[in-house]
Amino acid sequence: QRPVPSDVTISRSCVPIPIECLAEEIGLFSDEVELYGRTKAKVQLKTIDRLQAQPDGKYVVVTGITPTPLGEGKSTTTIGLVQALGAHLKLNAFACVRQPSQGPTFGIKGGAAGGGYSQVIPMEEFNLHLTGDIHAITAANNLVAAAIDARMFHEATQVEFLFRLSKLGIKKTDPSTLTEEEITHFVRLDIDPESITWQRVLDTNDRFLRKITIGQSPTEKGFTRTAQFDITVASEIMAVLALTTSLADMKEKLAKMVVATSRSGQPVTTEDLGVCGALTVLMRDAIKPNLMQTLEGNPVFVHAGPFANIAHGNSSILADKIALKLVGPQGFVVTEAGFGADIGMEKFFNIKCRYSGLKPHVVVLVATVRALKMHGGGPTVSLRITLLYCINLALLEAGCSNMRKQVENAQLFGVPVVVAVNAFKTDTKAELDLICKLAKAAGAFDAVHCSHWADGGTGAVDLARAVQKAADLPSSFKFLYGIELPIVDKIRIIAQKIYGADDIELLPEAQHKVDLYSKQGFACLPICMAKTHLSLSHDAEKKGVPTGFVLPIRDIRASVGAGFLYPLVGTMPTIPGLPTRPCFYDIDLDTESGEVLGLF
Ligand code: ADP
Repeated sequence: QRPVPSDVTISRSCVPIPIECLAEEIGLFSDEVELYGRTKAKVQLKTIDRLQAQPDGKYVVVTGITPTPLGEGKSTTTIGLVQALGAHLKLNAFACVRQPSQGPTFGIKGGAAGGGYSQVIPMEEFNLHLTGDIHAITAANNLVAAAIDARMFHEATQVEFLFRLSKLGIKKTDPSTLTEEEITHFVRLDIDPESITWQRVLDTNDRFLRKITIGQSPTEKGFTRTAQFDITVASEIMAVLALTTSLADMKEKLAKMVVATSRSGQPVTTEDLGVCGALTVLMRDAIKPNLMQTLEGNPVFVHAGPFANIAHGNSSILADKIALKLVGPQGFVVTEAGFGADIGMEKFFNIKCRYSGLKPHVVVLVATVRALKMHGGGPTVSLRITLLYCINLALLEAGCSNMRKQVENAQLFGVPVVVAVNAFKTDTKAELDLICKLAKAAGAFDAVHCSHWADGGTGAVDLARAVQKAADLPSSFKFLYGIELPIVDKIRIIAQKIYGADDIELLPEAQHKVDLYSKQGFACLPICMAKTHLSLSHDAEKKGVPTGFVLPIRDIRASVGAGFLYPLVGTMPTIPGLPTRPCFYDIDLDTESGEVLGLF
């Protein structure tokens, strides 16, 4: 239909296949599927065991050039490509995408279900509570936070008092809530409050929780401290969910999370707090991938949605693994990596594939005329981005330097690249052809323009054919660095090879953490850079391919349970705020029809 209606209008115009029918169609047994209403279901992990002997399908990752703040259409292309592979090339095809945070839904408009005629449906379900995984993470995360403060409080007050008395042989039963066993078996963790890295989380853009004081009630006897809230998707538990490979593995990862350091310099873990069993219980349903569908009836797993800066920004390993079995050897699983290729794709390969053991066959690199013009020197402020819709081939050609660098970045991993130019209605054929020509000259296996946003799967058939051909090439996938290298060497390799930095500079706090983590035995973890996605460098204003810069590493943090170290390049906001006119003003419920109004 022209003009293309709004995302929500398109989403509502399509009647979804009952999810149990879709599940049966793709080869799931009814006892492997847990229905959550008519359009969503969880898939049990035992499916992997049943299909163990089945060879995996082809594994495709969708990434992008350095984007404008509006996004260049990775999610839309992921869905469009699966629609083309499935409905049009008649291949088994599965999309795996992240679950979006609910915070932005009520703040700045922008869902993550794709767009136009390439969407996951129903988009309200997708963008709101889904099956409650994010709420489970909030509950689990905050149980750890409560455990930390309660432990410090009890160690410092009555338990400590009774513990000392019991050491002296004086058995006191007051306060009466404590048993003797509790007193004598009480192991002191002696947490240094200054070293606590675990924060409380909430899935709401509440900026006033960025810095808070806790423990102000008289019942906490003066044990106040400064703390903060992060958005739930920034919780390490979200990263654990995305990187885990089984229930037992998740339990192990949840037990290894380091929350603080003791006064004697020992890492304090969730296991030390005695909370990891309870965390596993809270997360036992969240670990199962959520099945939904595209507008054209292809299966989609929506599972996990870790932050793409302080975490690795990819959907779950388990969803990809189950999907690869279900599609079979001739089928395709298309998974999306957040941000541009320098961040999401690098982390997909070096972190996600390292933990999953899966070998990707093809990289799809999404490019747009508007973003490439910005890289060629066009305006960078989103309000003026419409100016980029004027024809200017010189600006476009100059901006293709960014695409060339991102193609080279993908090739460093030995995986063939297909460039997908996501066409907007204002783009001209001359512009789209120029990008394809320059992409092939940069070494891409193929480059095509596609119109899946406006046309659905039909608009991505050329892309699907190119991907199918590229997937037949022999894979020579390799990691960029060995995890056994020293921390600083791993950071330097990413900075120089992927970002094009001359070198890195470790600020004092970062150097201190290198020494601490090396001493604590965490040096062998992969690196998860927390850097702006709006430039290849650390400066969001520098477009194209910045050169002649030294990458400053301000600090380094550890997600030991999830399994990575994350160097902070600049300051990273970990809970967004609401704008002056938040979109919750527009959101309402039609109480007659039950329809959600004003959402996207
Ligand atoms: P990303 O995943 O790269 O952040 P999305 O796929 O979420 O990007 O797309 C960002 C926004 O742009 C969405 O609102 C989507 O509907 C819109 N969009 C994507 N492709 C097109 C296109 N070709 N024409 C118009 N709008 C588009």
